Amino acid sequence: MKGLYIHIPFCIKKCNYCDFASYPSLISKSNDYISAMLSEMKLYKGEKIDTVYFGGGTPTVLQINQLQTLISFVFSNFRVLDGAEITIEVNPCTINKEKAIELRKMGFNRVSLGAQSFLNDELKLLGRLHTSDDTISAYKHLSDAGFNNISLDLMYALPNQTNKSLSTSIEQMLKLKPNHISCYGLKIEDGTPFSLMEREGKIKEKSDDEYADMYEIISKNLLEAGYKQYELSNFSLPGYESKHNIKYWTLGEYIGIGLGASSYYKGKRYTRTYDFDKYLESFENAEEYELSLSDKMSEYMFLSLRLTKRGALKKEFASYFGKEITDVFPNEIKKHVKTGMLLDLGDRYILSKKAYYISNSVLCDFV
Ligand code: SF4
Repeated sequence: MKGLYIHIPFCIKKCNYCDFASYPSLISKSNDYISAMLSEMKLYKGEKIDTVYFGGGTPTVLQINQLQTLISFVFSNFRVLDGAEITIEVNPCTINKEKAIELRKMGFNRVSLGAQSFLNDELKLLGRLHTSDDTISAYKHLSDAGFNNISLDLMYALPNQTNKSLSTSIEQMLKLKPNHISCYGLKIEDGTPFSLMEREGKIKEKSDDEYADMYEIISKNLLEAGYKQYELSNFSLPGYESKHNIKYWTLGEYIGIGLGASSYYKGKRYTRTYDFDKYLESFENAEEYELSLSDKMSEYMFLSLRLTKRGALKKEFASYFGKEITDVFPNEIKKHVKTGMLLDLGDRYILSKKAYYISNSVLCDFV
Protein backbone atom coordinates (compact mmCIF):
# COMPACT_ATOMS: atom_id res chain seq x y z
CA MET A 1 0.00 0.00 0.00
CA LYS A 2 1.25 3.49 -0.84
CA GLY A 3 1.83 6.53 1.36
CA LEU A 4 1.01 10.12 0.46
CA TYR A 5 3.22 13.08 1.38
CA ILE A 6 1.93 16.65 1.05
CA HIS A 7 4.58 19.38 1.23
CA ILE A 8 3.62 22.80 2.62
CA PRO A 9 6.60 25.07 1.92
CA PHE A 10 5.65 28.00 4.16
CA CYS A 11 6.88 29.05 7.59
CA ILE A 12 6.53 32.20 9.64
CA LYS A 13 10.28 32.72 9.63
CA LYS A 14 13.28 30.68 8.54
CA CYS A 15 15.09 28.96 11.42
CA ASN A 16 18.86 29.46 11.62
CA TYR A 17 19.73 25.85 10.80
CA CYS A 18 17.09 25.13 8.18
CA ASP A 19 17.85 24.08 4.63
CA PHE A 20 14.43 22.55 3.92
CA ALA A 21 12.21 23.76 1.08
CA SER A 22 10.39 26.45 3.06
CA TYR A 23 9.86 30.03 1.95
CA PRO A 24 8.28 32.33 4.55
CA SER A 25 7.88 35.22 2.13
CA LEU A 26 5.69 33.21 -0.27
CA ILE A 27 2.80 32.58 2.10
CA SER A 28 0.83 35.29 0.24
CA LYS A 29 0.70 32.88 -2.72
CA SER A 30 -0.61 29.97 -0.65
CA ASN A 31 -3.97 29.78 -2.46
CA ASP A 32 -2.26 29.47 -5.86
CA TYR A 33 0.02 26.82 -4.40
CA ILE A 34 -2.92 24.84 -3.02
CA SER A 35 -4.63 24.95 -6.45
CA ALA A 36 -1.48 23.59 -8.08
CA MET A 37 -1.29 20.79 -5.50
CA LEU A 38 -4.92 19.81 -6.10
CA SER A 39 -4.16 19.54 -9.82
CA GLU A 40 -1.08 17.48 -9.10
CA MET A 41 -3.05 15.11 -6.88
CA LYS A 42 -5.44 14.41 -9.76
CA LEU A 43 -2.58 12.62 -11.54
CA TYR A 44 -2.93 9.87 -8.94
CA LYS A 45 -6.72 9.71 -8.75
CA GLY A 46 -8.06 6.51 -7.20
CA GLU A 47 -4.73 5.31 -5.75
CA LYS A 48 -5.11 3.34 -2.51
CA ILE A 49 -3.17 4.85 0.37
CA ASP A 50 -2.83 3.91 4.01
CA THR A 51 -0.70 6.79 5.28
CA VAL A 52 -0.94 10.54 4.71
CA TYR A 53 1.72 12.95 5.95
CA PHE A 54 1.41 16.76 5.82
CA GLY A 55 4.98 18.03 6.25
CA GLY A 56 6.94 21.15 5.57
CA GLY A 57 7.73 23.88 6.17
CA THR A 58 4.98 24.39 8.65
CA PRO A 59 1.62 23.00 7.49
CA THR A 60 -0.16 24.71 10.36
CA VAL A 61 0.70 28.20 9.07
CA LEU A 62 -2.14 27.57 6.61
CA GLN A 63 -5.61 28.75 7.58
CA ILE A 64 -8.12 26.16 8.75
CA ASN A 65 -10.16 26.49 5.53
CA GLN A 66 -7.03 25.93 3.41
CA LEU A 67 -6.14 22.76 5.33
CA GLN A 68 -9.76 21.66 4.99
CA THR A 69 -9.62 22.13 1.21
CA LEU A 70 -6.50 19.99 1.01
CA ILE A 71 -7.55 17.15 3.29
CA SER A 72 -11.07 16.95 1.79
CA PHE A 73 -9.47 16.64 -1.63
CA VAL A 74 -7.18 13.88 -0.37
CA PHE A 75 -10.23 11.92 0.81
CA SER A 76 -12.17 12.44 -2.44
CA ASN A 77 -9.26 11.90 -4.84
CA PHE A 78 -7.58 8.89 -3.22
CA ARG A 79 -8.93 5.69 -1.71
CA VAL A 80 -7.82 6.27 1.87
CA LEU A 81 -7.88 3.01 3.79
CA ASP A 82 -9.99 2.85 6.97
CA GLY A 83 -7.67 3.32 9.93
CA ALA A 84 -5.04 5.10 7.82
CA GLU A 85 -2.35 6.99 9.73
CA ILE A 86 -2.88 10.69 8.94
CA THR A 87 -0.13 12.90 10.32
CA ILE A 88 0.39 16.65 10.35
CA GLU A 89 3.55 18.44 11.45
CA VAL A 90 2.76 21.18 13.94
CA ASN A 91 4.97 24.05 15.02
CA PRO A 92 4.14 24.91 18.66
CA CYS A 93 3.59 28.60 17.90
CA THR A 94 1.02 27.92 15.18
CA ILE A 95 -1.56 25.99 17.16
CA ASN A 96 -4.28 26.94 19.60
CA LYS A 97 -7.21 25.15 21.17
CA GLU A 98 -9.58 25.85 18.26
CA LYS A 99 -7.12 24.85 15.55
CA ALA A 100 -6.29 21.62 17.39
CA ILE A 101 -9.99 20.73 17.54
CA GLU A 102 -10.41 21.52 13.83
CA LEU A 103 -7.42 19.39 12.85
CA ARG A 104 -8.85 16.43 14.72
CA LYS A 105 -12.27 16.97 13.10
CA MET A 106 -10.64 17.04 9.66
CA GLY A 107 -9.39 13.48 10.22
CA PHE A 108 -5.79 13.99 11.27
CA ASN A 109 -5.03 11.32 13.89
CA ARG A 110 -1.31 11.80 14.46
CA VAL A 111 0.77 14.92 15.14
CA SER A 112 4.48 15.50 14.86
CA LEU A 113 5.18 18.44 17.17
CA GLY A 114 8.45 20.34 16.63
CA ALA A 115 9.57 20.80 20.23
CA GLN A 116 13.34 20.62 19.44
CA SER A 117 14.44 21.69 22.95
CA PHE A 118 12.86 22.71 26.25
CA LEU A 119 15.46 25.41 26.97
CA ASN A 120 14.56 28.84 25.75
CA ASP A 121 18.14 29.95 25.10
CA GLU A 122 18.66 26.93 22.83
CA LEU A 123 15.39 27.58 21.00
CA LYS A 124 16.40 31.20 20.55
CA LEU A 125 19.76 30.32 19.04
CA LEU A 126 18.04 27.88 16.69
CA GLY A 127 15.85 30.79 15.57
CA ARG A 128 12.68 29.03 16.66
CA LEU A 129 9.79 31.34 17.46
CA HIS A 130 8.33 29.26 20.27
CA THR A 131 9.29 28.82 23.89
CA SER A 132 9.26 25.73 26.06
CA ASP A 133 5.92 26.87 27.54
CA ASP A 134 4.46 27.15 24.02
CA THR A 135 5.34 23.50 23.39
CA ILE A 136 3.72 22.43 26.65
CA SER A 137 0.54 24.41 25.82
CA ALA A 138 0.49 23.08 22.25
CA TYR A 139 0.77 19.53 23.54
CA LYS A 140 -2.12 20.13 25.94
CA HIS A 141 -4.35 21.64 23.22
CA LEU A 142 -3.65 18.66 20.97
CA SER A 143 -4.29 16.07 23.71
CA ASP A 144 -7.47 17.84 24.80
CA ALA A 145 -8.63 17.83 21.18
CA GLY A 146 -8.39 14.04 21.18
CA PHE A 147 -4.96 13.42 19.65
CA ASN A 148 -3.60 10.32 21.36
CA ASN A 149 -0.75 9.74 18.93
CA ILE A 150 1.70 12.61 19.30
CA SER A 151 5.34 12.54 18.32
CA LEU A 152 7.86 15.09 19.59
CA ASP A 153 10.99 16.19 17.72
CA LEU A 154 14.09 16.69 19.82
CA MET A 155 17.35 18.17 18.55
CA TYR A 156 20.76 17.44 20.02
CA ALA A 157 24.36 18.52 19.45
CA LEU A 158 23.24 22.16 19.43
CA PRO A 159 26.09 24.67 19.71
CA ASN A 160 24.98 25.95 23.13
CA GLN A 161 23.73 22.61 24.45
CA THR A 162 25.41 20.69 27.26
CA ASN A 163 24.84 17.13 28.41
CA LYS A 164 23.01 18.61 31.40
CA SER A 165 20.73 20.83 29.32
CA LEU A 166 19.97 17.94 26.99
CA SER A 167 18.98 15.85 30.02
CA THR A 168 16.70 18.66 31.16
CA SER A 169 14.99 18.72 27.76
CA ILE A 170 14.52 14.96 27.84
CA GLU A 171 13.09 15.14 31.35
CA GLN A 172 10.59 17.84 30.32
CA MET A 173 9.69 15.94 27.19
CA LEU A 174 9.02 12.70 29.08
CA LYS A 175 6.67 14.53 31.44
CA LEU A 176 4.38 15.06 28.44
CA LYS A 177 4.31 11.28 27.77
CA PRO A 178 4.46 11.37 23.96
CA ASN A 179 4.04 8.03 22.18
CA HIS A 180 6.85 8.72 19.75
CA ILE A 181 10.08 10.73 19.80
CA SER A 182 12.28 11.62 16.82
CA CYS A 183 15.81 12.82 17.61
CA TYR A 184 17.91 14.83 15.18
CA GLY A 185 21.56 15.67 15.65
CA LEU A 186 22.36 19.13 14.32
CA LYS A 187 24.53 19.29 11.24
CA ILE A 188 25.41 22.77 10.07
CA GLU A 189 24.34 23.02 6.43
CA ASP A 190 25.85 25.35 3.84
CA GLY A 191 23.84 28.44 3.03
CA THR A 192 22.10 28.63 6.42
CA PRO A 193 22.60 31.44 8.96
CA PHE A 194 24.33 28.85 11.15
CA SER A 195 26.97 28.22 8.51
CA LEU A 196 27.72 31.96 8.42
CA MET A 197 27.83 32.09 12.22
CA GLU A 198 30.23 29.15 12.19
CA ARG A 199 32.52 30.89 9.69
CA GLU A 200 32.48 34.00 11.90
CA GLY A 201 33.48 31.85 14.88
CA LYS A 202 30.24 32.55 16.75
CA ILE A 203 29.19 28.91 16.96
CA LYS A 204 30.94 25.59 16.63
CA GLU A 205 29.68 22.20 15.54
CA LYS A 206 29.97 19.53 18.26
CA SER A 207 32.83 17.03 17.92
CA ASP A 208 32.11 13.40 17.03
CA ASP A 209 32.69 12.40 20.66
CA GLU A 210 30.31 15.04 22.00
CA TYR A 211 27.78 13.99 19.39
CA ALA A 212 28.06 10.34 20.43
CA ASP A 213 27.79 11.21 24.15
CA MET A 214 24.56 13.10 23.54
CA TYR A 215 23.14 10.29 21.43
CA GLU A 216 23.89 7.92 24.29
CA ILE A 217 22.17 10.17 26.83
CA ILE A 218 19.03 10.23 24.69
CA SER A 219 19.07 6.54 24.03
CA LYS A 220 19.66 5.58 27.67
CA ASN A 221 16.95 7.87 29.02
CA LEU A 222 14.32 6.90 26.48
CA LEU A 223 14.95 3.17 26.80
CA GLU A 224 14.73 3.48 30.59
CA ALA A 225 11.44 5.31 30.18
CA GLY A 226 9.99 2.36 28.23
CA TYR A 227 10.47 3.52 24.65
CA LYS A 228 11.74 1.14 22.00
CA GLN A 229 14.32 2.33 19.50
CA TYR A 230 12.93 1.04 16.22
CA GLU A 231 15.07 3.23 13.96
CA LEU A 232 18.40 4.94 14.49
CA SER A 233 16.74 8.31 15.22
CA ASN A 234 13.27 7.19 16.27
CA PHE A 235 11.82 5.84 19.50
CA SER A 236 8.25 4.85 20.24
CA LEU A 237 6.00 3.13 22.68
CA PRO A 238 5.00 -0.29 21.30
CA GLY A 239 2.55 0.06 18.40
CA TYR A 240 3.25 3.76 17.79
CA GLU A 241 6.04 3.49 15.21
CA SER A 242 5.54 5.90 12.29
CA LYS A 243 3.88 3.79 9.59
CA HIS A 244 4.50 6.49 7.00
CA ASN A 245 8.22 6.82 7.65
CA ILE A 246 8.69 3.06 7.76
CA LYS A 247 7.72 3.06 4.06
CA TYR A 248 10.81 5.17 3.31
CA TRP A 249 13.10 2.70 5.08
CA THR A 250 11.59 -0.44 3.56
CA LEU A 251 11.43 0.69 -0.09
CA GLY A 252 7.64 1.12 0.11
CA GLU A 253 6.02 3.29 -2.55
CA TYR A 254 4.90 6.82 -1.78
CA ILE A 255 3.47 9.76 -3.70
CA GLY A 256 4.94 13.17 -2.92
CA ILE A 257 2.85 16.23 -3.73
CA GLY A 258 4.18 19.78 -3.84
CA LEU A 259 7.34 21.78 -4.19
CA GLY A 260 10.49 19.64 -4.06
CA ALA A 261 8.45 16.58 -3.06
CA SER A 262 9.89 13.19 -3.94
CA SER A 263 7.94 10.14 -5.04
CA TYR A 264 8.70 6.49 -5.46
CA TYR A 265 5.89 5.41 -7.70
CA LYS A 266 5.54 2.48 -10.06
CA GLY A 267 9.22 1.67 -9.59
CA LYS A 268 10.45 5.18 -10.48
CA ARG A 269 11.80 7.95 -8.31
CA TYR A 270 11.20 11.57 -9.12
CA THR A 271 11.39 14.93 -7.41
CA ARG A 272 9.31 17.99 -8.28
CA THR A 273 11.05 21.27 -8.92
CA TYR A 274 12.25 23.43 -6.01
CA ASP A 275 11.42 26.58 -7.98
CA PHE A 276 8.16 27.94 -6.59
CA ASP A 277 7.06 29.85 -9.70
CA LYS A 278 7.94 26.92 -11.96
CA TYR A 279 5.88 24.63 -9.76
CA LEU A 280 2.88 26.95 -10.08
CA GLU A 281 3.35 27.12 -13.88
CA SER A 282 3.70 23.39 -14.35
CA PHE A 283 3.84 21.04 -11.41
CA GLU A 284 4.65 18.21 -13.80
CA ASN A 285 8.27 19.42 -14.04
CA ALA A 286 10.12 16.72 -12.23
CA GLU A 287 13.58 15.32 -12.16
CA GLU A 288 13.02 11.66 -12.84
CA TYR A 289 15.53 8.91 -12.41
CA GLU A 290 15.37 5.19 -12.53
CA LEU A 291 17.71 3.54 -10.09
CA SER A 292 20.08 0.93 -11.47
CA LEU A 293 19.95 -2.53 -9.90
CA SER A 294 23.15 -1.83 -8.03
CA ASP A 295 21.75 1.48 -6.69
CA LYS A 296 18.60 -0.29 -5.57
CA MET A 297 20.57 -2.95 -3.70
CA SER A 298 22.71 -0.31 -2.00
CA GLU A 299 19.64 1.66 -1.08
CA TYR A 300 18.01 -1.44 0.38
CA MET A 301 20.98 -2.01 2.69
CA PHE A 302 21.46 1.66 3.56
CA LEU A 303 17.82 2.17 4.50
CA SER A 304 16.76 -1.16 5.98
CA LEU A 305 19.74 -1.33 8.34
CA ARG A 306 18.45 1.89 9.92
CA LEU A 307 15.58 -0.18 11.33
CA THR A 308 17.24 -1.49 14.44
CA LYS A 309 15.28 -4.71 14.97
CA ARG A 310 14.14 -5.45 11.42
CA GLY A 311 17.40 -4.78 9.61
CA ALA A 312 18.21 -6.24 6.19
CA LEU A 313 16.22 -9.41 5.58
CA LYS A 314 18.14 -12.05 3.64
CA LYS A 315 15.12 -13.67 1.97
CA GLU A 316 13.53 -10.33 1.12
CA PHE A 317 16.75 -9.12 -0.50
CA ALA A 318 16.99 -12.33 -2.56
CA SER A 319 13.35 -12.09 -3.63
CA TYR A 320 13.71 -8.41 -4.67
CA PHE A 321 17.00 -8.71 -6.50
CA GLY A 322 17.54 -12.42 -7.26
CA LYS A 323 20.89 -12.40 -5.44
CA GLU A 324 22.17 -13.10 -1.94
CA ILE A 325 23.33 -10.18 0.22
CA THR A 326 26.67 -11.93 0.75
CA ASP A 327 27.21 -12.30 -3.02
CA VAL A 328 26.60 -8.61 -3.63
CA PHE A 329 28.38 -7.19 -0.57
CA PRO A 330 30.89 -9.94 0.44
CA ASN A 331 33.63 -7.63 1.71
CA GLU A 332 31.36 -5.17 3.48
CA ILE A 333 29.48 -7.92 5.31
CA LYS A 334 32.69 -9.74 6.26
CA LYS A 335 34.36 -6.58 7.53
CA HIS A 336 31.45 -5.34 9.63
CA VAL A 337 30.52 -8.75 11.08
CA LYS A 338 34.17 -9.26 12.05
CA THR A 339 34.40 -5.87 13.78
CA GLY A 340 31.07 -6.48 15.53
CA MET A 341 29.28 -3.59 13.83
CA LEU A 342 26.87 -5.95 12.06
CA LEU A 343 25.13 -8.90 13.69
CA ASP A 344 24.15 -11.93 11.62
CA LEU A 345 20.90 -13.17 13.18
CA GLY A 346 20.42 -15.99 10.68
CA ASP A 347 17.51 -14.54 8.73
CA ARG A 348 18.76 -10.94 8.77
CA TYR A 349 21.60 -8.53 9.44
CA ILE A 350 21.15 -5.79 11.99
CA LEU A 351 23.45 -3.07 13.29
CA SER A 352 24.94 -3.81 16.71
CA LYS A 353 24.40 -1.19 19.43
CA LYS A 354 27.99 0.05 19.16
CA ALA A 355 27.42 0.73 15.45
CA TYR A 356 24.60 3.20 16.24
CA TYR A 357 27.20 5.82 17.19
CA ILE A 358 29.05 5.57 13.90
CA SER A 359 26.17 4.33 11.78
CA ASN A 360 26.93 6.61 8.83
CA SER A 361 30.37 5.18 8.33
CA VAL A 362 28.98 1.62 8.38
CA LEU A 363 25.97 2.37 6.15
CA CYS A 364 28.03 4.37 3.65
CA ASP A 365 30.12 1.28 2.96
CA PHE A 366 27.10 -0.21 1.18
CA VAL A 367 26.70 2.77 -1.15
S1 SF4 B 1 9.94 25.60 11.11
FE1 SF4 B 1 10.98 23.82 10.18
S2 SF4 B 1 10.81 24.10 7.98
FE2 SF4 B 1 10.29 26.06 8.93
S3 SF4 B 1 12.18 27.20 8.90
FE3 SF4 B 1 12.09 26.16 10.88
S4 SF4 B 1 13.14 24.21 10.59
FE4 SF4 B 1 12.71 25.06 8.56
